[in-house]
Amino acid sequence: MVKWPMAQETIIRCDLDFEAEGKQVGYLGVPKSTNDSAYGTVTIPITVIKHSDGSTMTFTGGVHGDEYEGPVALMKLARMLRPEEIRGRVIIIPCLNIPAVLAGLRCSPIDGLNLNRVFPGRHDGSLTETIAHYITSELVPLSDVHLDLHSGGTTLEYLPTIFVDRLEDQAAEKRNFEAAMAFGAEITVLFDDYPDTGRFLTSAFMQAGVQNFSVELGGAAKVNPAIVGLAEHGVRNMLKHYGILSGDPVSPEDQGRSPTRLANVKNARCYVIAPDDGIYEPFIDLGDSISRDQVIGQVHYPQHHDREPLAVKAPEPGFLLCKRPLGNVHRGDNIAIIAQPAGDAG
Ligand SMILES: [Zn+2]
Repeated sequence: MVKWPMAQETIIRCDLDFEAEGKQVGYLGVPKSTNDSAYGTVTIPITVIKHSDGSTMTFTGGVHGDEYEGPVALMKLARMLRPEEIRGRVIIIPCLNIPAVLAGLRCSPIDGLNLNRVFPGRHDGSLTETIAHYITSELVPLSDVHLDLHSGGTTLEYLPTIFVDRLEDQAAEKRNFEAAMAFGAEITVLFDDYPDTGRFLTSAFMQAGVQNFSVELGGAAKVNPAIVGLAEHGVRNMLKHYGILSGDPVSPEDQGRSPTRLANVKNARCYVIAPDDGIYEPFIDLGDSISRDQVIGQVHYPQHHDREPLAVKAPEPGFLLCKRPLGNVHRGDNIAIIAQPAGDAG
């Protein structure tokens, strides 16, 4: 008989040996009992590659199921990376929220939850909560570095961006910044006051002192080929930066792109929301410069086309880091994120 309080152990099964040398491909097995499958299992594919001594880097993608460039890059990495190429350990989970990925949805179709808002998770929670708990209890302790790959999903589209937290420990911040620059995104955003609720996947790694990064690669529920290429270089660049792969990171310039630009998102006002329901007509595109109070778009009223559209003004100057790619908007939808240039990346 189970005695209360119950043990906080994970209910997720993984038959891989994280300490074994070589390459292993398997899955995290999450129990799921339904009308269709009494003792069913949701299987989350995972690859573990270990060779010799070195750091452990963990990659996650597909935390949201409608964000594709990261998972594609990670599936390629998992297939191609050979043990003899590395020193250390690489843990790759391209599609962590596999039910959402298979459904093409941001949140889980099983329990409706957003995996990136339920950390640290619960060992006895819903399916999404048990996945979060597994990461917190089992994978975080194995990791020295973690990179979480996102895109904007169906309702947002980003310039390819890596995020770095400003830290009180300046040496630690410099260390994180150098690793982020090695990724080689178009934009590196330094967050002054990141609104970390403690419920993100990255929160679990951060709280344990694991070096931790997230990227937003593209979005609009597309698979952008140029951004997949950027992500493929990015994940390998990070492995090179940490000495797990040999060689130097391939810079954006050597990939035929512009150098990484530094930016901030200086306050919550930079997250512009739709002022009304209707059809949003943007006047600017990703990367365009924005002045304060510039009209960046307008909301039309489909049922009252004689009515003057409602102008949307930029509350802060900067450039367009992220946009809503859909015409349909409801009041409160995030339609733009304005970032501010932050000087020289060199
Ligand atoms: Zn996401």
